[in-house]
Formats: sequence, C-alpha cells, structure tokens
Amino acid sequence: MLKVVKFGGSSLANAEQFKKVADIIHADESRRYIVPSAPGKRFSSDTKVTDMLYDCYSSRREDLNSKLDAIKARYNEIIDELKLDLSLDKEFETIEACFIGKAGRDYAASRGEYLNGIVLANYLGYEFIDAAEVIFFDEKGNFDADKTNSVLSDRLADVEYAVIPGFYGSMPNDTIKTFSRGGSDITGSIVAKAAKADLYENWTDVSGFLVADPRIIDSPAVINTITYRELRELSYMGATVLHEDAIFPVRKEGIPINIRNTNKPEDMGTMIVESTSKKSEYTITGIAGKRGFTSVSIEKDMMNAELGFGRKVLEVFEKNGISFEHMPSGIDTMGVIIQQSEFEKKEQEILAGLHRNVQPDSIEIISDMALIAVVGRGMKSTRGTAGRIFSALAHARVNVKMIDQGSSELNIIIGVSDEDFETAIKAIYDIFVTARL
Ligand code: ASP
Repeated sequence: MLKVVKFGGSSLANAEQFKKVADIIHADESRRYIVPSAPGKRFSSDTKVTDMLYDCYSSRREDLNSKLDAIKARYNEIIDELKLDLSLDKEFETIEACFIGKAGRDYAASRGEYLNGIVLANYLGYEFIDAAEVIFFDEKGNFDADKTNSVLSDRLADVEYAVIPGFYGSMPNDTIKTFSRGGSDITGSIVAKAAKADLYENWTDVSGFLVADPRIIDSPAVINTITYRELRELSYMGATVLHEDAIFPVRKEGIPINIRNTNKPEDMGTMIVESTSKKSEYTITGIAGKRGFTSVSIEKDMMNAELGFGRKVLEVFEKNGISFEHMPSGIDTMGVIIQQSEFEKKEQEILAGLHRNVQPDSIEIISDMALIAVVGRGMKSTRGTAGRIFSALAHARVNVKMIDQGSSELNIIIGVSDEDFETAIKAIYDIFVTARL
C-alpha cells in the first residue's frame, strides 16, 4: 500500500497544524510522499503566505525588506514553536536577490511551498525534493506530463519517504512556473500517478464534499463516494475543495482521491472514484448551482428543416469568444445558455450576428437566470426522480424556466430565476435528503 498525501494551506498555517499533520502522517506508514501547500490563513482575516509573496514581489524596492521580514516571521514562528534546528536565513538571502533581479511572479509565489516543504521535511525527518527538479513545463508553459512522469518516477524509486512541495515546477530555461491558484492539488495528483500510488489523500479543512452548499443548507450531509463524472457535473460546487485539473492525472490511472479533514481525522471524508457499485445514500449525490446566466432563445418557423441552422447559431457565439453551458431546443426554437457577464460585453455583436446568419423570426433574451445541477448515478435506476424534483419545486412556488437532462441520465439541469435560486435548492435538498424520498 502506498499513499500520496497532500496538505492544504490551512492544514499547515501554524505550528499547531503542523503537529496534527505529523500525527496523521505517522499514523499510517503507507503515507510516504507528502505534498504541502504554503501556509494559509490562521484566522479568517489573516493573509495567505502566497498572497504575501505576490504582494511583496510587486511592491516598491524600499518596502521589500519589511515585507520579506513579515513572511520570514511566519516561518520562524513555526520553526521556533516546533523547536526545529533549522535556519532559513540563507534561503531568504537568495529569495531577496532573486526578487531584486526580477526572477518572475511565479518564482515569487512558488517560494511559499518551497520553504514550507523544507520546514515540513525537517520536522518529519524526510528527504526534501525540490519540485523544480521533478515537475516540468514545456516552452509554451504547458505542463509536460511525459517528462515529469519519467523523471519523477525514477527519482521516487530510490526514496522511501519524501516531501515534494506543491504548486510549481520548472521551464526548459530553468525558470520557475506555477500552476493556477490552488495548484498544489495538481502536484499531489501528479506525484500519485508517478509513484503508482494506491490512494491520493487530499487533506483540507472540510470533511469532504457536501451534498449542497452549506451557505444555503444548514449542515448538509457529506457525500461518502462520488465518481469522477459526477464530480465534473457538480463542478460549480467542487471548485473550492479540489482544483479541477487535479483529477486528470489520477483518473486515468484509476487511483481514487480521498478528501479528508486535518482537523477531524476521524471523519472518513469523500472518496472520488472512477466507478463504483456502491449506491449513494440518497437517490441524488449532490446539488450545485450558480447564478448569473442568460438564455438567448431563437425562434424561426421550420427551423428543424433548415440544414446547418444550429451550426450557424453557434458560430456567432464562437466568433465572439463565448462558450455555451446548455442548449435546450424545441421544434422551431433553439436556446443557448451562456454566462451573463460575458454576454453583456458582446450583446449587440451577437444579436447582429444572429440576424445576419440565420434571419430568425424573433429572439428572446432572458437574463438573471440561475442554473441548478442535480446529479446522481442513482438516477438511472430510480423511477420518478425528475417528477419528484418538479413537484418539490412547484410546492415551493418556483417557476422552472429550463430543463435539460444529460444523455447519460446522470444529471438534470434546471434553470430558475436568480431570486428563486436558494428556495429551489432547499426544496430539492429537502425532498431527497431530509425526507429521503
Ligand atoms: N499556495 C497556492 C495558492 O494559494 C497553491 C495552493 O495552495 O494549492 O493558491
């Protein structure tokens, strides 16, 4: 058994959190490769070290020293409280020189993980492997999966226990590049693949994915097991817990991800798997949604007989750089649902383009729409799921503006007005989870 374990910023925000992390690692000897983030917030108004580094790098020369000192203090507080025999003075001298030499914003941000990796490796007594030596990007700045996998797996073959900082790697010219924000999740996934791990544990500050947003539902149930496909369908929800790109490296290898809570290690969290025979506890696995969509509905008699109609409509959106979320259609109507903020910037160009391309009888625009995705592998084998959703919404006096059931029978997407968003989610949650219908 081999596990790769990633700890997020809040799990490593101070010495107390470091102790919890060490207890978790030592509790299971198969937890061999550790991927840390940079120290996160210790309290809600605190600043993440990554943000301090971005700020420091873009600040004036005369503010550089005091800002670097504040960052150094964050690490020294951890080092002192853990009573480590470690000094980061030399490291900070190098960092200062590189900041002055303008080594790049990505280099600056990456130092949060780099230094945290050094501290954690020292505390655990594990080898430190600089991500710059094992994670690679190509000339264009795209992640180089093949090179990384071969170098990293060779390197790990000789090391039993190691700490590999998350979030960054190196370019062919040896400069440092980071993934997008939250990217340590991706590093963990890449390490899990290269190590041929049995499990990728992602330790954070929540006990897994919740069936619905806790800002809308009071203490929602935790999802025990979710498939990668379900998670993608719920991506409006998952984004804050796990970086979207983190699923690709492990998914192909069939390595499950387990989301765990550093502050409640006894909770089993959420297992993300390729496929499972396990039924979800409720008919649905999760509900997620987002406000701020616009529906552009195009009407034209005999549209269904007009060859290339759909293509010509979509071409207009494509030319304006807008991707669509859904496309519900009727015999003489076609709707395209897009993000409102993007639509507003290009409204007139799109309308003119549609008139020119397909000469519609009319175009109707509905703004301020919210989309709600009800997702569950259990829906396929359960009759009446859609019926229950719509009767719950009717009881809650929510008007449904759009319905789209994915062809995989894994999801039902519902469009409601922005103001009905929370009422609709509550009604759906209540019928499936509270009432267990
Ligand atoms: N420290 C980086 C960030 O704040 C990466 C990460 O935490 O995953 O985005």
